[in-house]
Parts: sequence; C-alpha cells; structure tokens
Amino acid sequence: MAPLVRFAPSPTGYLHIGNARPALLNALFARARGGRLLLRLDDTDRERSTAEFARAVEEDLAWLGIVPDLFARQSDRAAQHDAAAERLKGQGRLYPCYETPEELERRRRRQLGRGLPPIYDRAALSLTAEQRAAYEAEGRRPHWRFKLEARTVAWDDLVRGPAHVDCASLSDPVLIRADGTYLYTLPSVVDDIDLGITHVIRGEDHVTNTGVQVQIFEALEASVPVFGHHNLLTTADGEGLSKRLGHLSLRSLREAGYEPAAVRSLAVLTGSAEAVRPVASLDELASLVDLAQISRAPARFDPHELDGLNARLVHAMPYAEVAPRLAALGIPDLAGEAFWLAVRANLATVAEAALWWKVVAGPVAPVIADPAIAAAAAETLPEEPYGPETWKTWTGAVRERTGAKGKALFMPLRLALTGLDHGPDLAGLLPLIGRDRAARRLAGETA
Ligand code: GLU
Repeated sequence: MAPLVRFAPSPTGYLHIGNARPALLNALFARARGGRLLLRLDDTDRERSTAEFARAVEEDLAWLGIVPDLFARQSDRAAQHDAAAERLKGQGRLYPCYETPEELERRRRRQLGRGLPPIYDRAALSLTAEQRAAYEAEGRRPHWRFKLEARTVAWDDLVRGPAHVDCASLSDPVLIRADGTYLYTLPSVVDDIDLGITHVIRGEDHVTNTGVQVQIFEALEASVPVFGHHNLLTTADGEGLSKRLGHLSLRSLREAGYEPAAVRSLAVLTGSAEAVRPVASLDELASLVDLAQISRAPARFDPHELDGLNARLVHAMPYAEVAPRLAALGIPDLAGEAFWLAVRANLATVAEAALWWKVVAGPVAPVIADPAIAAAAAETLPEEPYGPETWKTWTGAVRERTGAKGKALFMPLRLALTGLDHGPDLAGLLPLIGRDRAARRLAGETA
C-alpha cells in the first residue's frame, strides 16, 4: 500500500529550518515510495494559531518545493474529536479531574520530597459522584485524563529500531483542558485514524507521546501506524531551535537569498549517514534519505554552512533555470547566458548578479590607480567584436608596452574597468562591458 504521511505543524509561528526537517523527511519518504503527503494544521490552540501563520506554512513549504497532496485542519474536525472523547469516556479511559494547578504542584513536591516519581496519583478516579458534584457546584470545571494501562508499549521505529516507552512510569496525560479545548494528543490520533495515515514521522521529542498515543489508537480499536522519530536539528552549541531563532525562519532564509535546495540539503543531510552537500533536486535528495541511517545524536549544524551550500548551488546553476530570476532582478536578457557564465562563480546568492550587471552596464565610477597603465590600455584597446580571447590579447599588449605584469598590471585594469578591486574574471566581463564603455572608463569617465 502506498504510504500516506503527514506533516503537522501548529500555525503559531513561522516555520524554521528545524521544522523543515520533519516536513522534508515526510515529503521525501512519500516521494521515494509513490506515496502522498498530508499537510495537517494542528490549530487546536485557538489563541495562538492565526490565519496568517497558516498561510505562511503553505507558502514556506511551497518555497521548499513541498506541495502537499492533501490538506486538513484540526479545528475543522472538532465533531470527530468529540466523538472519540465520548467513546473513551464511555470506556472509563477518559476521566474527569478537578485539581487546580496549585494542588497538583503541591502534590508533586510532596512526592519528590519522599523520593517518589512525581506521577499523577489518580486521586480523581476515586472521587464519588457527590464529591464531583460539589466541585462542579464550586464552579470548578474538570480537565480530562487518559487512563494509561501500566505496561510497556513497544514498536519498531523507522529511525531508532526497536523502541519502547514504559507507560507505568508516566502520569495519565491530560487530553482535554478545563476550558474544554483539546491538547494535541487526542486530535492527532483521531485525525491519523480518520485520514488513514500509514506512517508517522516526527521528531524524537514525541517518543513519549508515541507510548501514550499507541494506547489511544488501541483504545479506539484502530490499527497503529508505523512510527519513526528523527533526531532534532540543533545549533552547533547544542541549542534547540525555537520560533525565537527568527533568522532561521524559512521566510528570513528566503529573504536572505538562500536557495531552497541549500536549506533542504542542510535540513535533511545534517545528522544523517550522508555528507552534507548541495543536492539540487528533490528526487536525488529523496534517494539519499534512509531513515534507518539517521543518527541518534542531535543533528548539530552551523547556520553558516548554508553559505557554502548556497554558493556551490549557484555556481553550478544552469542559465535556463536562472534566466527568469535574472529578468526579475531587472537584468535585461541582452547578454543572456554569457553574463551568467561570467559572473556565477563569484556569487553567494543569485540576487548578487544584479551588482555585476551594474558593473557591466554602468554607470561605473572608475578608479584610475595607475595612469600610465590606463593610458596604455586605452591606446591598445582592440576594436570589436570581442570574444573570450580579447582580454588575453589586449593585456598582453599592455604588458608589452608598460612592462607591468601580474597584479601590478591586472589590478589597475580591474579598478579602471569596474571601479572595484575584486570580481568575476575580466575575460568574461570585458566582452559584456564592450569597447565604448571600456574606453570611457579608462579615460576616467563615469560610464
Ligand atoms: N503539531 C505537532 C508538533 O508540531 C505534531 C506532532 C506530530 O507530528 O504528531 O509537534
């Protein structure tokens, strides 16, 4: 059966590179197997979820190259969540509790003081109907806990191999808050069941949830999906990624000019068995991902690695792919492929091509560092047409006339022709600058 996987972010902030990891691992898993991807917005936190963040999730995924096959929103599925909650209540697996946070905290401290694990003591299970009625009369509303079976839940994890959670050591989790809203735990299971999710691939911060959720799947008499828990991306100092690290949001990376392929490569290959390297195509990246080979250690990365990955992708980028983007940068198609081939090796981002177009087309304020060389260059400047060999012939003539060579020859020419002391190979730029502009710049004119 073709897999159906899901990426399930909460629309409470912008996706960052750490979220790109599960998004891509799911998308690539489906892609490699002819499966499908569901985008599920986990928007049960109504106060923090916004329509703007929801839109941004879809935009940012599209930028990464992920177009989900199916879409669901948890807030549209309240009736199904309620039905499942009623079913669990009917089975006695979901029970009402009336403790306030302060009471729970006091109990927790008492347990810790006695050297006991701070597990919820299930006091609410022994409340009589009168006691419950008395709480209700006081205006207390219950929160609802799922009664865990005290057993170990085991599964064969796609990433971690044989895995287990000892549910006897966990507190019964709260599934419904006192205000009637759901925590993510139950709706996630209900949606995974109803939508037919076959594989749940998510961060290892959800391993304990899996122990709980497997028990919920079973209580709802549904088949349990296959689980895989990948390591989380962390910065080099081991700091986890939170929405606070705004500069690593997919939007800011996009605005900074990073290629989606650079972000994809870093988000997926870090902490895998493959070397982190630029992989331009999604299909190739999909063929490289083997969940079973993902490391158990945190996937540490340095955001600066993006620079190197990006540059390498840009340097190898074919003109056909970049042409519309050059047009969007306001670079006319006059020089076409020749311009791109002349400058791409000097670019950290595609957007920087605009700077070099300005150097070609002008106006450039030349720097005449060595008037004698500028004069000799002007006198020996060849007639057009210019080709790839023109630069060599011309600088040979200037060398002969002035005796200057190496840097002493090339730097004054570069400064005069471009106004800058660095840049792409002039053999490629000169034909684009052309004779007229070159002559004027050598004469010290802004052109
Ligand atoms: N909304 C949850 C999260 O972002 C989804 C976890 C899951 O994939 O089940 O952590």
